[in-house]
Amino acid sequence: MDKMLSVVIPSYNEQEMIQKTAAVIHTILTHAAIDHELIFVDDGSKDNTWQEIEAAAAANSVVHGVHFSRNFGKEAAIFAGLQAARGACAVVIDCDLQHPPEKMLEMYALWEQGYEVVEAIKSDRGKESALHKAFATVFYGIISVATKINMRDASDFKLLDRKAIDALLTIKEKNSFFRALSSWIGFKCVQITFDVQERTAGVSKWSFWSLVKYAVTNITSFSDFPMKIITALGMVSFVISVVMGAIALIGKISGRALEGFTTVIILQILFSSIIITSIGIIGYYLGKIYDEIKGRPKYIVSKTCGKDEE
Ligand code: UDP
Ligand code: MG
Repeated sequence: MDKMLSVVIPSYNEQEMIQKTAAVIHTILTHAAIDHELIFVDDGSKDNTWQEIEAAAAANSVVHGVHFSRNFGKEAAIFAGLQAARGACAVVIDCDLQHPPEKMLEMYALWEQGYEVVEAIKSDRGKESALHKAFATVFYGIISVATKINMRDASDFKLLDRKAIDALLTIKEKNSFFRALSSWIGFKCVQITFDVQERTAGVSKWSFWSLVKYAVTNITSFSDFPMKIITALGMVSFVISVVMGAIALIGKISGRALEGFTTVIILQILFSSIIITSIGIIGYYLGKIYDEIKGRPKYIVSKTCGKDEE
């Protein structure tokens, strides 16, 4: 019990995968003689994911389920799983087996050697369309610059020691970003690599817009980089306006004032757009502050299954 591994599996519309994933992970860990529990977090699925989890829990006592009242997103599902975890350490892994479960053994061995956070880094992103790859490069490039964490190859596939789990659970931010927070908390950390596997059933839950939303939310929740851009823009435009002001004054003095009309229009457009964008970004941060200050929970659990009778 004192070396138990909790496996946290966020699942959204994964009805085809639940039984298979449970069986694969259970077999691997049983063979390696690692005491474990599997926690499936049903993120408000619209298909039969919950029924599948209940069936898996009825068939195998190591399986537990947490069901959300609606879709709260993968981040929330991860935190709910960590909250429910009773192990001495926990691994977060995707339900679609794109994170190779045998890697858990390597991660667990590193944990036994004393590492408190084991991060799995993508060595190969698997099959993606050229468009998706291009967008991913741009997105992760921006996120990496803004958050100073290499997001391109980071994944949510991680092992956390009990100390790290408890530290993460004290974080009250509603827009928590697991991938970045797990390195923000510190602790003795080590990285391993894995090859992204192909999804065997079901479809990816990411649409183009959900990716954009994800990028914007995570950049703004993890850094004030956009605000710094505004400040930089402000300073640049101040320099420009000083130069233009001087030119205009000289024009006025030498009696050629009317000619500057084009310049005025261009400056007008330039500054209006900078100001409007800046207000937009500030408004976005204000919105986020408003979100946080409301203090709503990250997620709402509607039912659980497979919990030991108390
Ligand atoms: N997921 C979730 N809530 C969501 C979207 C996804 O819990 O709102 C889970 C999903 O079931 C899977 C994992 O997050 O276990 C990764 O999702 P997906 O495979 O769709 O992402 P991709 O591998 O394409 O990045
Ligand atoms: Mg996937």
